[in-house]
Amino acid sequence: MFESLSERLGGVFDRLTKQGALSEEDVRTALREVRVALLEADVSLPVARNFIKTVEKKATGAAVTKSVTPGQQVVKIVHDELIETLRGEGEPGSLRVDSPPAPILMVGLQGGGKTTTTAKLAKRLKERDGKKVLMASLDVNRPAAMEQLQILGTQIGVDTLPIVKGEDPVTIAKRAKTQAGLGGYDVYMLDTAGRLSIDEELMSQVEAVRDVANPRETLLVVDGLTGQDAVHTAENFDERIGITGVVLTRMDGDGRGGAALSMRAVTGKPIKFVGLGEKMDALETFEPDRVAGRILGMGDIVTLVEKAQQTLEAEQAERMMKRFQKGQFNMNDLKMQLEQMMKMGGMESMLQMMPGAGKMAKQMGDAGMDDRVLKQQIALIQSMTKKERANPQILQASRKKRIAGGAGLEVSDLNKLLKMQRQMSDMMKKMGKMGKGGMMKQAMK
Ligand code: GDP
Repeated sequence: MFESLSERLGGVFDRLTKQGALSEEDVRTALREVRVALLEADVSLPVARNFIKTVEKKATGAAVTKSVTPGQQVVKIVHDELIETLRGEGEPGSLRVDSPPAPILMVGLQGGGKTTTTAKLAKRLKERDGKKVLMASLDVNRPAAMEQLQILGTQIGVDTLPIVKGEDPVTIAKRAKTQAGLGGYDVYMLDTAGRLSIDEELMSQVEAVRDVANPRETLLVVDGLTGQDAVHTAENFDERIGITGVVLTRMDGDGRGGAALSMRAVTGKPIKFVGLGEKMDALETFEPDRVAGRILGMGDIVTLVEKAQQTLEAEQAERMMKRFQKGQFNMNDLKMQLEQMMKMGGMESMLQMMPGAGKMAKQMGDAGMDDRVLKQQIALIQSMTKKERANPQILQASRKKRIAGGAGLEVSDLNKLLKMQRQMSDMMKKMGKMGKGGMMKQAMK
């Protein structure tokens, strides 16, 4: 699966990564090609457009590290965005099958692979999760369908509900529920009937079954080769029945793979599994990072950039540590820290990484520090002169008044900031004395 998309994108990025410095124009050209590749892979237009827009934004704002080329960085951004586009909630392949007997409703159009997938999933639940599973076919329109499921059941060693001729789907669903309860089954799977296209009769039948079964999971099985149609089918079923996830079948074929990319973005429902063949074990958990890797075929670059980013952060931390060990902590340092806090998503996450965090978190909490206060403090430091920032001890009444006024704040606000800087400076000095192996190092881990 995804071969053609992967080839196209691989070509675009190969050219991009081979160049050293990238101009904005290079990136734009590459992304235009990515967009064409996505559309050719049958990703819907709005999804492709959105995707490119996000990548462009992230590529423009990305911190540049020395050890990777900008092109490699763009590949990483595209990779991460692919994952984001594909990702659903929860663990990949997880199904809510607690509180036995848990009903799973299988829905979809005829020929999509519903019956095959029902059996594949039953096998997986039995073998990997140790569940006792009962399968029931509700396809009264096609008698062969019931027998098909029975045969598959025998093949994989999973029980099927005995076939009773002349029953309607709702009655069969009720019988399956009773049987599952009596027989001590963990899960019972209801394989509903399909039609060649969505029609009212199919939907109301499935609806009626849903209402008696009250399923824990409602999985739509669609043929991945049908691209955009698969996405429309999912939209329809979700609107009417409410689905909890999607299984894309025939992903072993030479499908263009676009359905996978659009599915999550358009329907908001996760792809939980993919079918990769007719055999009973040809079912895989859908894992966004693996799929994104396969689409790009550039796993090594992604790893390289991840490593480079880590190195960059480590270098910055090391430099900071050296200064602090010398007991140097002026307003410039404080400003950097405050800005870092803002960037890292606020106080809490940053404080956890700083030495003496527990105590300081309390102090800052007491001082009513939140992100609004962070901004005010940065403004105060900004309205100081260079000399004042490097030597905050020179601040006397008139200077204080000027600085506070410049930031549109009170002198009392500035005093709080000064107190904080003094405390932090003292703390840094103490820790500096503890040497390299001291608290600092531990806090950085
Ligand atoms: P249903 O009408 O939706 O129940 O579809 P079936 O389960 O009967 O499947 C229709 C055909 O598709 C069968 O021949 C299956 O073996 C085949 N099939 C199902 N899933 C896959 C898959 O993931 N890959 C391939 N290659 N064939 C599949």
